[in-house]
Amino acid sequence: MPFSRLSEAFQKMEVTSSRIALTEILIELFKQTPSQLMDDVVYLIQGKLYPDFVGLELGVGEKLLLRAISLATGVGPQEVEKLYKQLGDVGKAAEDCEKRRRQATLFREPLTISRVYSTLEKVAKAFGEGSQDIKIRLLASLFNDAEPLEARYLARIVLGKLRLGVADYTVLDALAVAFGGTKEAREIVERAYNLSSDLGLVARTIAEQELEGVKGIGITVGRPVRPMLAERLKTPQEVLEKIGGEVAAEYKFDGERMQVHKKGDQVWVFSRRLENITDHYPDVTRIAGDGIKAEEVIVEGEGVAFNPDTGEFLPFQELMHRRRKYGIEKAMEEYPVSLYFFDLLYLDGVDYTQKPYSERRRKLTEIVEESERIHLAPMIRTESPDGLETFMMEAIERGCEGLVVKDPGSNYRAGAREWAWIKLKREYRTEMTDTVDLVIVGGFHGRGKRTGVYGAYLVAAYDKEADMFRTVCKVGTGFTDEDLKDFYEMMSRYETDHKHPRVDSKMEADKWFIPQVVIEVLAAEITLSPIHTAAWGSIRSGAGLALRFPRYTGRLRLDKSPEDATTVQELIEMYRRQTKSIVEEEAKEIR
Ligand code: ATP
Repeated sequence: MPFSRLSEAFQKMEVTSSRIALTEILIELFKQTPSQLMDDVVYLIQGKLYPDFVGLELGVGEKLLLRAISLATGVGPQEVEKLYKQLGDVGKAAEDCEKRRRQATLFREPLTISRVYSTLEKVAKAFGEGSQDIKIRLLASLFNDAEPLEARYLARIVLGKLRLGVADYTVLDALAVAFGGTKEAREIVERAYNLSSDLGLVARTIAEQELEGVKGIGITVGRPVRPMLAERLKTPQEVLEKIGGEVAAEYKFDGERMQVHKKGDQVWVFSRRLENITDHYPDVTRIAGDGIKAEEVIVEGEGVAFNPDTGEFLPFQELMHRRRKYGIEKAMEEYPVSLYFFDLLYLDGVDYTQKPYSERRRKLTEIVEESERIHLAPMIRTESPDGLETFMMEAIERGCEGLVVKDPGSNYRAGAREWAWIKLKREYRTEMTDTVDLVIVGGFHGRGKRTGVYGAYLVAAYDKEADMFRTVCKVGTGFTDEDLKDFYEMMSRYETDHKHPRVDSKMEADKWFIPQVVIEVLAAEITLSPIHTAAWGSIRSGAGLALRFPRYTGRLRLDKSPEDATTVQELIEMYRRQTKSIVEEEAKEIR
């Protein structure tokens, strides 16, 4: 299949502002793609060569790419660089170079998807001495044969700047329609994706073996499972009513979620976003390898940094010091990590996600050998609000955020945020101190002291049902001068010249961004709003929900993908609970 076919689809996707149209383009493309190419096509659409957990990158910087383009097109290196600076987009610069030298080309072999993919794979796998030259030669061979439009997307893929903003769920929708056509098909592909975290694998399997094949995709050690997530409520009473009967309550540690996989001597650690973070945590790998008594296993827990001098837990942010490429040994000494395991997903050939919490926890207790650095999350079983309240106070005193309360009869629901897990944090009990995680979708030019940077950002909640980002407020408070500069630079990577198709906004921003960056925001109150689009019409027709007095807390949630942001559905719940408690408070006062 020619690469030009994919480039044309990219071009269409780039200009569309409708999610339905985006899905249609994908369906069309998938139907035309030979089945053995489906995985490559799906990865390329996401600007990748492999699923994130593989962790292999192309390792090509701007300079190297520009040299390859120059070499292939004959356009001088300085001119290429100048073009890049002028256009501000490596894709457009590459395209322009191709146009400039076309007359001089005598022979071209049209690019195919297989050739592009396999050449890029070689680029990614070139390591060590002489690898830079090899990478340049490989890339130049592609640009030599690329048409201008192909060069545009090739260059963006190479620098990781393709960013078409196609969500995993949109790909799943398109796969289900293209190859299944039923509602059941959508559920089956989603389940396979939740267990394998590999869209390419799901795509190729459905194309080659239809739905029956997809049903066979299960858990594999070494490949992360998409994590189960928690809902939230405000009081122990509400939690008990929601779950019904006896609950299991565990400490909610404030660290980094870690999914630890072990097979014989090999150990992998995956983050909440399914990145392979094994190399950042050699200590975790070692202690988990020693402390988990099983041959082949997947467990989940929270890694918490502690002060080696006092033993006290450190705030979540400190763990981000461990996410570095160099100096890991030193970071490991300064920010050592303890592990608190809370779930078992797989053990020696048995898929535990299908088993109830009680059984998973019992087995987990059997296989985890507790020591100074490795523990089970403390847990109680209770039916009483007082029991929960006391346990929560205890957890908070120990430096935890609160509790995660679990339904003892529930299985592990990969990739889902459901009521089988409910978080209970202290702050939810006081009005107006709740934080939410929101996605930056637009920027407003700053004035006065803020001239030259964005003075405020337009932020949005995630509407899971529609897979859209709907605005909730403009936030300009809480940013330090340094934050403002850093954000300005960081956001330039996500600029787009039109509102992104997955963004729903009535407000016009000075600059639009691809939804990518998540920040934590503290707000005083949720109010009805005629301007913001989150939960539009759900509470009152002609109104959405907005945050009043929002303030950036200083927590940039690099560990969250935009789809992990607070959802519109959660905001509706929060709004309802808030209004209910206000009514209750007023009633008390009247009495
Ligand atoms: P938050 O922003 O409140 O940290 P989150 O959006 O990252 O939450 P949630 O699903 O809302 O994730 O809350 C569950 C998170 O809490 C898990 O991802 C995990 O990292 C953490 N956690 C800590 N202790 C536990 C526990 N005992 N059981 C489950 N999750 C726990």
